[in-house]
Amino acid sequence: MKATDLKMGDLFEFVPAQGVIKFREGRVLMIDAEAIGRMRELLIKNIGHEAARAILSQYGYTNGYYDALKLQNLYRWDTEIDWLAAGPVMHTLEGIVQVEPREISVDRAKKTINMHGVWRNSYEAEQHLATFGKAETAVCWTQTSYASGYATAFMGCDCICIEEKCVARGDPECYWHIRRKEDWGAEAAPYVRALALLTSDKEEFRRVLGAGTKAE
Ligand SMILES: [Zn+2]
Repeated sequence: MKATDLKMGDLFEFVPAQGVIKFREGRVLMIDAEAIGRMRELLIKNIGHEAARAILSQYGYTNGYYDALKLQNLYRWDTEIDWLAAGPVMHTLEGIVQVEPREISVDRAKKTINMHGVWRNSYEAEQHLATFGKAETAVCWTQTSYASGYATAFMGCDCICIEEKCVARGDPECYWHIRRKEDWGAEAAPYVRALALLTSDKEEFRRVLGAGTKAE
């Protein structure tokens, strides 16, 4: 099985009689992008940018991590790279963003990964622009964290995806880049922090949450 052979009809089982769409033993939902955009807007406006980013990052990370684990066992992949490359295909099929990997260099045994490419039609950039206008920084938080979660599940060690360009801040396209957490420098710090705030650093999250609430 190659990653490019993934098809929507094979991945999901539509069971309208039960009101469910199944993906392996789990369940997936079809939710309007406007509704997710509204939730994103309310989070940012009510608890502040940093706390909202932390929550949305945990959401995306969980989504990516479990997609990777489910896809690992769902097919007999031709190569490990196909299992990894299934992540971008999955993200595309789910309607989140159109993903074009430009480089996939990975060695699971040696724990090395360098993977990057283009995102087009990011729902998150669209929603941010529609609600807040042009951003100062990259804003596709659920998408970068999805990629971080997927790559971490694949590699078995912490990986971080950062967004080097983003349509929401005026770039012509969004550009993502995944490396191991320890291979990044300061550029990855906001991404690492966003994921840590709700796991290893909950005390700091409460401080950030308090500051964000007062700011509104
Ligand atoms: Zn973006």
